[in-house]
Amino acid sequence: MSAAPIRTCVGCGQRAPQGALVRIVAGSEGLRPDPARRLPGRGGYLHPSPACWAGFVRRRGPVRSLRLTPPRAERERLVATLVGSSETVLKPR
Ligand SMILES: [Zn+2]
Repeated sequence: MSAAPIRTCVGCGQRAPQGALVRIVAGSEGLRPDPARRLPGRGGYLHPSPACWAGFVRRRGPVRSLRLTPPRAERERLVATLVGSSETVLKPR
């Protein structure tokens, strides 16, 4: 069995190995992808899947792993960033 850390996708709520998910962080400038998983701050994880991104935009209430409730506009901006950078952010490694 793998010892890879398990994280929960904030879009669909399913658990997955950390390496299969894209990290996002809530920084001073709002939500942003952190594909290298190096940025400080509270992080969350999303599958590299548009369905999960849409789920993240639709959901309401606080994101537990981020300890905040990102406004919908902020969620949409993050997803737009993910879509725009999908080739570099989402490439499996
Ligand atoms: Zn997901």
